[in-house]
Amino acid sequence: MAISLDDLPLRDDLRGRSPYGAPEAKVPVALNVNENTHPIPEDVAHDIVESVARAVLQVNRYPDREFTELRESLAGYLDHGLTAANLWAANGSNEVIQQILQAFGGPGRTILGFQPTYSMHTIIASGTGTTWLDGTRDEGFRISPETVRREIERTDPDIVILCGPNNPTGTPLPIETIEAAYDAARGIVLVDEAYAEFMPSHVPTALTLLEGRPRLLVSRTMSKAFAFAGARVGYLAADPGVVDALRLVRLPYHLSSLTQAAAVAALRHAPEMLAMVDDIKAQRDRIVTTLTELGYEPYETWSNFVLFGGVDDPHGVFEKLLERGIIVRDLSIPGHLRVSAGTEAETTAFLDAMRDIRLGA
Ligand code: PMP
Repeated sequence: MAISLDDLPLRDDLRGRSPYGAPEAKVPVALNVNENTHPIPEDVAHDIVESVARAVLQVNRYPDREFTELRESLAGYLDHGLTAANLWAANGSNEVIQQILQAFGGPGRTILGFQPTYSMHTIIASGTGTTWLDGTRDEGFRISPETVRREIERTDPDIVILCGPNNPTGTPLPIETIEAAYDAARGIVLVDEAYAEFMPSHVPTALTLLEGRPRLLVSRTMSKAFAFAGARVGYLAADPGVVDALRLVRLPYHLSSLTQAAAVAALRHAPEMLAMVDDIKAQRDRIVTTLTELGYEPYETWSNFVLFGGVDDPHGVFEKLLERGIIVRDLSIPGHLRVSAGTEAETTAFLDAMRDIRLGA
């Protein structure tokens, strides 16, 4: 018989909290967790397997604790004048964010974020004992420079976390908002750019602001654009001093040699891996256009998913889609659902189902 949480000597600040809970339903068309649903190209897969196979032959040894080759590869991929000294990585950007809060947050410290945003931000705050402060967004889930300044002045946080493009809304985070946040904040400003590769290509990302801003941190992931969610590789670009701070909290050898080998091999094929990004952006734009035609209200999105309003009964629509083998995300935002852009076939299945549901078919 399992003991209940109430009967365990759990930390008081964790009582009553809920774990991360995206459903893991096995259905033919899974568009609920913003994965890249395109399989990686086969020649890339073979190269990754060969690299991992070589790493297995030395798996009796601990991995390179500094994952130098991976950091060099990531710096090369990001460009922007960054070197390995500016780069850090961990098992998903979730772990990167956790390490940042371990180093710069913790008991007695605060973090300002703007909900609705990525649900792990609050969960990592509570796991590290950092007090979450809620900022208020503008109309349409946006954050203007004036708003971010006002909210930072109101709350005086130790850390500001911004998500651009924002999950679950997909909405852009203007570069001016990041600059204003940095100028107004006395502490760390972390920009979670998990979906950066899906932004319009002419738009500057937070990486362009790093020079001369040592308190600015930019987290990224290989889970989305690189279709590498299962490998668990997230990373950070920041001042080398910030990387030193993360060394104080990381567990030794936290990135396995197999992970390092797989990620370095994938980064060797960056252009081929990223070729699917254009297709995903096209499917995303098709979702926006078609849902608008059907009378729903999709938000402008710079990511690989679409949040749409105008849904009278989100839970009912969710269930009807599920009956058709399609899973989307019901985030409990009244009147809204979120869907990830899939392959052309998956996206068509979703849009056809939405049309049928709209027509009551
Ligand atoms: N940040 C955002 C905004 C996300 O949506 C996600 C994944 N859904 C992550 C970070 C975490 O990604 P990972 O840990 O796979 O790198």
